[in-house]
Amino acid sequence: MADDEARRPDRAAPEVPRRRTSAPAGKGAAHLAAGKPESRVALVRRARKMYRELAEVYPYAHPELDFENPFQLLVATVLSAQTTDLRVNQTTPALFAKYPTPEDLAAADPEAVEEILRPTGFFRAKTRSVMGLSKALVEEFGGEVPGRLEDLVKLPGVGRKTAFVVLGNAFGRPGITADTHFMRLVRRWKWTGATEPEKIEAEISTLFPKRDWTMLSHYVIFHGRRICHARKPACGACPVAELCPAYGEGETDPEKAKKLLKYEKGGFPGQRLKPPQSYIDHGGIPAPPLGKE
Ligand code: SF4
Repeated sequence: MADDEARRPDRAAPEVPRRRTSAPAGKGAAHLAAGKPESRVALVRRARKMYRELAEVYPYAHPELDFENPFQLLVATVLSAQTTDLRVNQTTPALFAKYPTPEDLAAADPEAVEEILRPTGFFRAKTRSVMGLSKALVEEFGGEVPGRLEDLVKLPGVGRKTAFVVLGNAFGRPGITADTHFMRLVRRWKWTGATEPEKIEAEISTLFPKRDWTMLSHYVIFHGRRICHARKPACGACPVAELCPAYGEGETDPEKAKKLLKYEKGGFPGQRLKPPQSYIDHGGIPAPPLGKE
């Protein structure tokens, strides 16, 4: 799930809800930035406060892959490797129209699938993956996507990250999605010093109640895509600046920072062609279909 540059439509950007965003980092975060240790209790408090702030900023946070059932989410998540969710969302309507079930996809002509998947990159490998996992679903799970981690990770091309996306969003089972945005942000915030996805996932899971894991993942990933970017975080327009030990790593001038905002925060279209209504209600714009960008 890589990120991409958003496109600018003819409409003003909705305001980012924020509190004293141009202020320097707050006392706790400044303390941390100075290299002083933070107690476990203070870390849990700060992390949960950041969660609450992000929940207010992104009340409509959701998975950014379009899907209508667990099979579609599983396939879309596998396809999202090394490309944007937007590109996947623009590609899957044709795929699922032609092959709506695991049985259909398992029995497809690989060349026809490759042609459809071409825009997502690595389309030959991805064709093998989605056809392979469809075959496994048919042969081992009666054509249904299993709702257990241990079964999902046995499917070809499905790792823990993909499994947690499916469990959290198609089965309502709490899970942390340690994708590239999530890992970058939780390290910036000094919620963990770990570098391995599994270790990050394990450490972060101890900071929050299990029921919050799925939404935590969405809030953090939304923030990473819109404001706390890899190269140029928009610190001057950031609603959690006061709690962030990395404040100042990016642009702190509020006006310049505002120009760095992406997707609905910058007034641009999102990644989903069919986003949830709550996203539209908050000023979000659906992504255009393939070829209409
Ligand atoms: S944009 Fe990122 S690095 Fe900057 S203050 Fe916000 S969370 Fe911290």
